[in-house]
Amino acid sequence: MKLEMLELKDRKAKFVLSEVTPAFANSLRRAMISDVPKMAIDYIDIYDNTSVLFDEMLSLRLGLVPLKTNAGMYRFQKDCDCQGAGCALCQASLTLSAEGPCVVHSRDLKSSDPETVPVDQNIPLVELKAGQKVVLTAVARLGIAKEHAKFQPVSASGYKNLPVISISQKCDLCKACVEACPRGVFKVEKGKLVVGDIYKCSMCKLCTEACDAGAIGIGSEDRTFVFTVETDGSYNAHDIILNAVKSIKGKAEQLSQIMEAF
Ligand SMILES: [Zn+2]
Repeated sequence: MKLEMLELKDRKAKFVLSEVTPAFANSLRRAMISDVPKMAIDYIDIYDNTSVLFDEMLSLRLGLVPLKTNAGMYRFQKDCDCQGAGCALCQASLTLSAEGPCVVHSRDLKSSDPETVPVDQNIPLVELKAGQKVVLTAVARLGIAKEHAKFQPVSASGYKNLPVISISQKCDLCKACVEACPRGVFKVEKGKLVVGDIYKCSMCKLCTEACDAGAIGIGSEDRTFVFTVETDGSYNAHDIILNAVKSIKGKAEQLSQIMEAF
């Protein structure tokens, strides 16, 4: 197995994973989407809400506000000693108190844990006119996306097979493919047609259609995958990949323990 990191930013990663089966690549993708635990608002006590939004709509919006997650600090509520009653080990509370005229933003949520705060400060939640009020306490807990989409830490996680482009001797340098390619994959260098950035290729095959000489062939590598991961900010991209791999490893270890008992 080989990994080549093409881009690693705070919220985005692009990498090439090679010498793995499609099943393994897919399990990594699925683990990133639905097995990495994330903190999200799950329960709300509303003391006052005279805004135009119903309690339910306001609650739904709050649930979808991405929160920074330090999963090591919290337990799943079902595994906690408090047996689901809620304690400092399995939940964090955020309070919101606002009176119009104003626009309530995610930054107005005051958290009991300085590490569990909204990732983006400027998410608008509700507009309050003069005299309108919102007062509430929200409880955030750890969950996974299999339970609810609000616990999904990635906004995009996908892969494609690595494209392979072959240019044969038949090429007469008409440059029709250079113009036809919407992503600018081809270029002419020293009187020869060459492939520039292969990772940009989406295998749309517009180049093969444009080439009258039939000089271009498009294929793909079966065991090499180009991954793109974008997080919602609850984790950085590096930690998402690492936690997804840990989850796969944990499941394999669990299975191995079970099998050893036979
Ligand atoms: Zn607890």
